[in-house]
Amino acid sequence: MAEATIISGKDLARKIKEDIAARVPALVEKYGRAPHLAVILVGEDPASQSYVKSKGKDAEQVGFKSTTIRLPEETSEEKLLDIIAGLNADDDVDGILVQLPVPAHIDEDRVIEAISHEKDVDGFHPANVAALWQKRPCAYPCTPKGVIRMLDEAGVDIQGKRAVVIGRSNIVGLPMAKMLLDRNATVTVAHSRTKNLPEVTREADILVAAVGKLRMVTADMVAPGAVVIDVGVNRDPETGKLAGDVDYEPVSRIASVITPVPGGVGPMTRACLMENTLECYLKAMEKHS
Ligand code: NDP
Repeated sequence: MAEATIISGKDLARKIKEDIAARVPALVEKYGRAPHLAVILVGEDPASQSYVKSKGKDAEQVGFKSTTIRLPEETSEEKLLDIIAGLNADDDVDGILVQLPVPAHIDEDRVIEAISHEKDVDGFHPANVAALWQKRPCAYPCTPKGVIRMLDEAGVDIQGKRAVVIGRSNIVGLPMAKMLLDRNATVTVAHSRTKNLPEVTREADILVAAVGKLRMVTADMVAPGAVVIDVGVNRDPETGKLAGDVDYEPVSRIASVITPVPGGVGPMTRACLMENTLECYLKAMEKHS
């Protein structure tokens, strides 16, 4: 079989961000200010610091106002909730994101619930989650939204396909499964207790790996011609480089379409974050005009 088509999340994300950037000047003209994304980071986790930096950079690239609030590791939950309440009340802020995970002494669920659902650019607030599962308008979580966009861009017809999602977290696996279901795929969700995972994954026309285990999806787990989406981000201890959940080289010789790590789902997640910020801004501006 020929090598798989590689979906470059980097290129598609660039296109999405260029489209947003092209719209911003007219919006500033119309509403008097640019969209504004506020990102909060508690602590000094190096991966989180790098994610937050990239999000701020992307926001600035598309012409948004970007505020990054860096708080020390020992910040109390009360203090964090106070800051979120201030941002909720600030009409100049459209999107609020708290970089996860937060330190263990802070209740992540309380933080997610504290962000106004109208400014919840991550799509993690219970009101947004409920709306997604009830097929009502919502902020779609950025990572699964980015994956669907990549599948569309690659011309993958999702309808009627058998999709297997490995992973069932609230932020990736579950919303991914729901969004594939809403595009009329027949979806199986696999997890750490799934028995005989390769037998399950070999049934997939579309296989999404969202686990966080380096190269756990091996070539024997993939049906010839399958579409393979790698959400995982892992550090290869041998090379020190980032790599996905998929054993890329051998799998790319079997799959029809594949996403690389880095340069795949990651940049698309951030592009969708910019889209979600723009959507929150537009809703707020329409409400106030
Ligand atoms: P979680 O740790 O919350 O979830 C991992 C999931 O994988 C769980 O559902 C777990 O099952 C399942 N799992 C663990 N081991 C196995 C196994 N051996 N076989 C099958 N399933 C297994 O991670 P996240 O969902 O937050 O993230 C997943 C990956 O995606 C990570 O690498 C993360 O860094 C990356 N990520 C990438 C993003 C991007 O923009 N590219 C954005 C967000 C995350 P169980 O439920 O049974 O425990």
